[in-house]
Amino acid sequence: MVATLYIDGRWREASDGRVHEVHSPHDQSVVATVSQATQADVLNAIAAARKSFDSGLFTSWSFKARGELVAKIADLLERDGDVIARKESDDTGKRFIEAQYDVADVISTFRHFAALGAKEHGRSVDVGIAHVSSRIVHEPLGVASLIGPWNYPLLQIAWKVAPALVAGCSFIVKPSELTPQSAIALMKIIEEAGTPKGVANLILGPGSVVGTSLINDPRIDLVSFTGGLTTGQTIMKAAATTIKKLALELGGKNPHIIFADADIDAAIDNAVTAAFLHSGQVCSAGTRLIVERSVHDRVVKEIVRRAGKISLGGPDDKAAETGPLISQAHLKSVTAYVEKAVAEGARLLVGGKRSDKPEHAQGWYYLPTVLDNCHTKMYCVQEESFGPVMTVEVFDSEAQAIAIGNDTVFGLSGGVWSSDADKAARVASALRHGTIWVNDFGPYRPAAEWGGYKQSGIGRELGEHGLSEYLEIKHIWTNNAPSRSGWFKDQ
Ligand code: NAD
Repeated sequence: MVATLYIDGRWREASDGRVHEVHSPHDQSVVATVSQATQADVLNAIAAARKSFDSGLFTSWSFKARGELVAKIADLLERDGDVIARKESDDTGKRFIEAQYDVADVISTFRHFAALGAKEHGRSVDVGIAHVSSRIVHEPLGVASLIGPWNYPLLQIAWKVAPALVAGCSFIVKPSELTPQSAIALMKIIEEAGTPKGVANLILGPGSVVGTSLINDPRIDLVSFTGGLTTGQTIMKAAATTIKKLALELGGKNPHIIFADADIDAAIDNAVTAAFLHSGQVCSAGTRLIVERSVHDRVVKEIVRRAGKISLGGPDDKAAETGPLISQAHLKSVTAYVEKAVAEGARLLVGGKRSDKPEHAQGWYYLPTVLDNCHTKMYCVQEESFGPVMTVEVFDSEAQAIAIGNDTVFGLSGGVWSSDADKAARVASALRHGTIWVNDFGPYRPAAEWGGYKQSGIGRELGEHGLSEYLEIKHIWTNNAPSRSGWFKDQ
């Protein structure tokens, strides 16, 4: 029996008994068999979440009490960290050590939101009338659908679940069908921590099958989604009918600008990490290298040398520096993307094909790839490959670097390297992206907001704003000395 759906405080099989096998991207072995929800299961999960929310049980807990629950979840995650990291690396194919880093980030996320629970919520407003008290109160927003991607499966779900719990929402989690195991483990911990029945529910299955009701159903108040732009557009259209609140974390095509006066050695090293970490399957990957003409040859030659030496391998390969792509379909899509780039005039300098090493034959390994001679009109510069593919563009002036860096529909993140602090600050300010790194690329902290400008999304996760997404704000005006309004004549 496979009972991995969690609905109304009970672990259940799919209503038709259907299961789904999860395959390792490293060697295609079966790493898990999980339940695949039916439409009836989804409707049951929505009903359970709605009922729990409307019962007022969890919403009546104080912020502080809900923060303590979330702190307890963080403790249990710490206890089970390596077991969860193993599941995560099995599903994604990423190295076990990277999955351990991810779980550490998940724990920090829960600790951050737990601490926000202990803070003061709401405020008084001075309306200038002695006998009126005016209060702004923060209330849980309602029932939320929390839909996540496969690249950082537990982390992206954690950015939603932790604030939803502190806020007092009830929710249905739907992880990617490719990477369900860590969400199951999290849900077991949420249950063990003492979360009231029906508050947290877990649905598994492909978005095309189980996703529709999670967006359309009028009993859902908020959809918080992390994934691709096209899915985000579908969700936004579907959510319009019932005017749902939306939080969208979508794709990125992130500029990484290197000026000639930068610490070139550090910039090159970070450029390699930015583009090829997790084989480029990172929403904030620095896939667009934008380099000042005078240092182009030196920078690109060294990046190509370094990219050609990156060692690929599976979860337990100690020599590996990064892993496979998530699926065969994704391998095909990255392959087609690079072919299209070359046909458009990009110059392939390294990679550009699947690894032909015998030990990679069963996995979805694609070589780190650098495409030179690119410009903003090209498909490969505008579209996300979500693979280990770096495009290179050149610039001659600060204004041109900014213009190129902003010439994208996306606006998730970007980096700028220069030893001129004023110039770097001007460029950081001019770039229309949600996170900018100066002389660095990649770090983030749960205490700092994360999210996209333009088509990279709506709203923010993490920080204090990441909690606000799950709250309604109510103004309560209390007149302590009632009197007639006197507006209309009383004949
Ligand atoms: P995806 O859009 O294919 O799927 C994301 C989730 O949506 C999955 O759980 C999927 O099952 C579900 N889904 C698919 N169709 C649906 C539908 N019609 N209704 C409801 N749910 C549906 O994305 P992916 O391939 O899993 O993830 C990669 C994408 O995620 C990339 O574009 C990446 O940039 C983005 N991403 C963004 C961030 C961020 O912070 N902005 C973080 C991680 C990933």
